[in-house]
Parts: sequence; C-alpha cells; structure tokens
Amino acid sequence: MSENLSAAFVEGLHELDLDLSSQQIEQLVYYQQALLDWNTRVNLTAITDSEEVLLKHFLDSLSLLAAYRAPDTRLLDIGSGAGFPGLPLKIVSPRWRVTLLEATGKKVNFLRHMIEALGLDGVEAIHGRAEELAHTPAYRASFDVVTARAVASLSSLLEYSAPYCRVGGLIILPKKGELTEELALGKRAAIQLGTLLKSDIPVKLPGLADGRRLLVWEQQKLCPARFPRSGAAMAKKPLG
Ligand code: SAM
Repeated sequence: MSENLSAAFVEGLHELDLDLSSQQIEQLVYYQQALLDWNTRVNLTAITDSEEVLLKHFLDSLSLLAAYRAPDTRLLDIGSGAGFPGLPLKIVSPRWRVTLLEATGKKVNFLRHMIEALGLDGVEAIHGRAEELAHTPAYRASFDVVTARAVASLSSLLEYSAPYCRVGGLIILPKKGELTEELALGKRAAIQLGTLLKSDIPVKLPGLADGRRLLVWEQQKLCPARFPRSGAAMAKKPLG
C-alpha cells in the first residue's frame, strides 16, 4: 500500500517519527482519492493534484505533531473544511477524540461520509459556526487542543478558539507568510482571552518549507464568558 504514497510524503512521515500501520496508510489513500473525486462535484479544495493533497493537506495537517504529542487528547478543529487538519490527525492518532466543526453543509456531508467510509470511532463532524457552538456548555472549556487552519486572522481565530480550550490546554494555529502586524494584534487579543503565546515553531517538512509555522498558545485561565462575541460584533471591532 505504501507504494501509493510519494517518497516526499514518506520522508515527511519519517521526519515526524510516524510509523503508520497498513490500515492507516490505506485510510489516507482512500481519503486522498475520495477528496479528489468529490471535489469534481463539490467545491472542497483548490488543490487538484494527488501529490499536493499528500503534502499540502495531509503532511501539513500532521505537522501539528511537531508541537504536540500525547496518546489521549480531545481535539477541536474549527472550520475544518474537507477535514484539515483534524481528520489526518485522527487517522494517525486513533485514540484521540476529535470534533470537526464546519459552517458549510456540503463540506459536513463530505466529512460524515469520510468518517463512515473510513470506519473511524471517536470523531464527529458538526455543522455550525464556532462563535455559536462555543456558548454550549458541553463544548465550553473542554478541549485539550484547539486548532484551525486557514479560517481567519489570528485575533479572530483566538476569539473562536479560547472559549473551547480547557485551562492548561493548547491552541495550535498553523500560519504562513508575513505576520508581524497580525501577530501583534493577536497577542493583544490573547491577553483579553486568557491566552498566551508559548512557542512559534517553524515547519520544515518536504514540500512545506515555505515559511510555514505553528503558533502555539496556552490557555492560562478560563476565557471570559462574554467571548466569543457574535460574528457581526467580531467583524465590526476585532479584538487587539
Ligand atoms: N481548515 C480547512 C483547510 O485548511 O483546508 C478549510 C479552510 S477553508 C479556507 C475555511 C473554512 O472555514 C470553510 O470551510 C468555512 O466554511 C469555515 N468557516 C469559516 N468561518 C467559520 C466559523 N465561524 N465557524 C465554522 N466554520 C467556519
């Protein structure tokens, strides 16, 4: 089965110290093919090349393991889209309990199809908006790790994420490109949300050495109940 994976992807798995079972490799290959197939009918991703799916979606998702590794974890992926980064992380970490939160119904249909087709337990796809679900007690302050890739600016991402994170938990935000101004706003927003930037980790995996980094924030105290504000309030006056 691993012959279906490119040398660069296998090298990336090696660099992350990931030794996958044949079932996990089979699941990744199935996911890759289903994503490209569904993408001809439903707008899931701008990436249409199978090698790019492996590197820019799967390996990029798995790069979060360079910042965090624990066998049992409750992870929330906000704005998961076609499952990134949450679903590849679930495939390689079967004991994790993963919630994929996504606002677009067609993408949620794809996520639910994948969860069933891959036979995964301990993962759910929720159709909703981060700023609304965050006020539900079952989800508030209850995740060990919260992540979101390519969803919003840092300040908004922190406002979405902090309410879901337990005290002592982490918010891991993959970013790339020039961030000086965005990071300064994000740090100011973080103070109001009970969060602090803990580390800034460069990602240097095959095909991904283009200025990607993981911004790792620690939830130091409970996020105040007034956050997140409504989407309209966030758009009108971003924190920071
Ligand atoms: N995270 C995926 C990735 O990296 O491939 C998808 C990124 S896509 C550019 C952003 C996704 O976030 C979209 O699917 C959108 O529907 C979702 N989204 C945006 N705002 C959201 C919100 N407030 N709550 C939940 N999902 C949201």
